[in-house]
Amino acid sequence: MEKSTGTYDVIVAGGGPAGATAASYLAKLGYNTLVLEKSHFPRHQIGESLLPSMMPILSDLGLSETIEAENFPKKTGGTFIWGKSKDPWSVLFSTNPFLPHSHAYHVDRAKFDKILLDNTRVLGADVREGEGVKSPIVEDGRVVGVISECDDGTQHEYRAKMVIDASGRASVVGRQVTNRTFDPKMKQVAFYAYYDGVKGPDDPEQDGHVIVESHPKGWCWYIPVESEDLGEVSVGIISGQEFKEEYSKMGPEAFFESCIDDLPYLKKMLGDKAKRVSSVDSITDWAYSCDRMAGEGFILAGDAACFLDPLLSTGVSMAMLAGYSAAVTVNTIFKEPEIEERALEFYGGNYQRMWDVTRDFLHYFYAGNASAYPEDMFWKARSTLQLGDNVGARQAFCFLVNTIPGNPHPALRKQIHMFTQFMDNMEHPVNEFEEDEKLQELAQNKKTDYATFDELTSDAIPLVNGEIASSFQIDGDSQTLKPVVGITYDENRPIFSSSASWLLGRNIHELDEEALAVLEYLNGSHTWSAVVAEYASKEDLGLGAAEARLKQVIQPLCEENIVLLRRPAGNVQASRAVAG
Ligand SMILES: Cc1cc2nc3c(=O)[nH]c(=O)nc-3n(C[C@H](O)[C@H](O)[C@H](O)COP(=O)(O)OP(=O)(O)OC[C@H]3O[C@@H](n4cnc5c(N)ncnc54)[C@H](O)[C@@H]3O)c2cc1C
Repeated sequence: MEKSTGTYDVIVAGGGPAGATAASYLAKLGYNTLVLEKSHFPRHQIGESLLPSMMPILSDLGLSETIEAENFPKKTGGTFIWGKSKDPWSVLFSTNPFLPHSHAYHVDRAKFDKILLDNTRVLGADVREGEGVKSPIVEDGRVVGVISECDDGTQHEYRAKMVIDASGRASVVGRQVTNRTFDPKMKQVAFYAYYDGVKGPDDPEQDGHVIVESHPKGWCWYIPVESEDLGEVSVGIISGQEFKEEYSKMGPEAFFESCIDDLPYLKKMLGDKAKRVSSVDSITDWAYSCDRMAGEGFILAGDAACFLDPLLSTGVSMAMLAGYSAAVTVNTIFKEPEIEERALEFYGGNYQRMWDVTRDFLHYFYAGNASAYPEDMFWKARSTLQLGDNVGARQAFCFLVNTIPGNPHPALRKQIHMFTQFMDNMEHPVNEFEEDEKLQELAQNKKTDYATFDELTSDAIPLVNGEIASSFQIDGDSQTLKPVVGITYDENRPIFSSSASWLLGRNIHELDEEALAVLEYLNGSHTWSAVVAEYASKEDLGLGAAEARLKQVIQPLCEENIVLLRRPAGNVQASRAVAG
C-alpha cells in the first residue's frame, strides 16, 4: 500500500449536491478543504426534479446565471392523480408563501452535479475525482481523518479537524460511526427510463410540473428533463417489496411496461409517438436515517445521513440545505471550539426533526390514496399508515385542530391554507377539520376570541403565543450559528412550510431581556389586572406605573401576535351574536 498524508481543515467525502455545497461554502470562507469523490464527473444520478428551497444556495454560490443558461426546464409545481378524485390536481410553488422562489428546475443530474462540483474547485477547494474514502480514522472516539483509495488502488491518509460525510447512500463514515435504521413501511423499489417523442400534458399549466399518478402496484413520476443525453422525459415506476417475486421473474423492463399499462394519464402524456431511448434501470428506494447526524469530528449530510422516498422530490434540496447547514456548523466550531457539542447537537436535532416530519407527511400522503386500490397489496400495506402513526403527522393534525384555534399567528394561517391544499385531495376523513368553525374563522382572518391591544381590558387574559426557548440561528453575514433566546412561535410547524426552516433552525423570534422578563408574568390563565398586580408587587411599583411599563413592552409584541389577548368569554358570545 502506497501511503501519503496531508492535513486539511475539512475533508468532504463525496462531491454530489451535499458535498459540493458544503465544500463550496467552506472554501469560500477560506478553509483548506479537500473533496474526495470516488467517481469521475459527469456521472449519472437519479433525482431530477428539484424544489425551490435550494435556489438561494445557487445564488450564494454564484451559480444562478450559469444554471439559468443551461436551459433546464423550469419546475413550477406538481400535479397529482392521487387521493379522492381521479382528476389531476396541482400544487403550485407560486401559491406557497414560505418558498423563496416560485420555481425550481428539472435537471439532468450529470450536468447539474458537475456544474456544482466544478464551481467548488473554482471557489478554492482541492477536489479529487477518482479517489474515494475507504474508511474514517477514529482516535479516542473522534473522527480525525480518512483513508482514501484511488482508481489505481493506491491509498492515502488525510487528517482534518472535521470530516463531512456526503458520500450518498454509501455513507462511508456514517456506516462506521452511527447506526442506520430503516423505515420498515417504506421499503420500495424504483424502475426508470427515458423517453423521446412525448406528447406532453394537455393542460399547458402542467408543462413545468412533476406529474405523479398512482397505479395498483405503486405510483409513477413523469419529469420533463429535456436532456440531449438522456431523453426528453424521465419516467419512473415506484413499487414495493410485495412484488419482488413478480418483478424478479418478469425482469425490470416487462414489469415497468406492465405498470405503464395501468397508468392512463401517463400513457396519454406519452402519446402514440413516444419512444423509450434507454434501458429500464432499477434502484431500491428505502427510507432510512442514521441515529446520529453528527458527532465528535464528523457531520453527515444528504443521503449519507438519511433518505426519503422521492414522492415529494425532497432529496437534492435537502442534501444541499444539509451541505449549507454543515458548512455553517463547521465554521462555528472553528471559530468557537468550546460550543462544538451544542452546535453539532443543533445540526443533528434539526436534521432529524426535518426527516421525521417529512417522513410522516409521506405516510400521510400514501395512506391518503389507499382506498383508490382497496384490493391491491401495495396500497393495502400503506393504508395502515394512518395519521398519528408518527409524531409529525399527529402533530400536524393536533396543530390544526387544537393549537391553531388558540394560536392565530399569521404564519399559521398561511399553513392552514397550504395544508388544506393537500388535505382536500386526500381520502382521509377531513370533515371534522373542514367543519371546525374556529379553524375556518382563522383561515379567513377573523379572530373573534382575541382582542387587539387597543381593546385591552382588565379581564382579558394575555398569553404568550409560543414557547420561550434558547437555540441557535444562522447569522447570514458571518455564516455562523448565533445563540438566541426568544419565542419559537411555530416550533411544531407541521409540514411543507419550507424544508429550509427545519434544517436551518426553528423559527425563533429573538427577544430582548426586558421583553423576556415581562413574558414570564403571562401564564395564559391570569387576567390582565392580576398580571399588573403581580408585576407591581414584584417590582415594587404602584399599579399605574406597573401597567404603563407592562403596556409599553407588550404593545409591539401584541402587534406581532407574539402576545395574544384572549377576550373574556362573554365578549366572544357577544361578538358571535352580532356577527350572526
Ligand atoms: C428512485 C429515486 C428517485 C429520486 N428522485 C428524486 C427527485 O426527483 N428529486 C430529488 O431531489 N431527489 C430525488 N431522489 C433523491 C436523490 O437522488 C438524492 O437524495 C440526492 O442525490 C442526494 O444527494 P447527495 O449529495 O447526498 O448524494 P449523491 O448525489 O449520491 O452524491 C454522493 C457522491 O458521493 C460519491 N461517493 C460514494 N461513495 C464514496 C466514497 N466512498 N468516497 C467518496 N465519494 C463517494 C458518489 O460517487 C456521489 O457522487 C431520488 C432518489 C431515488 C432513489
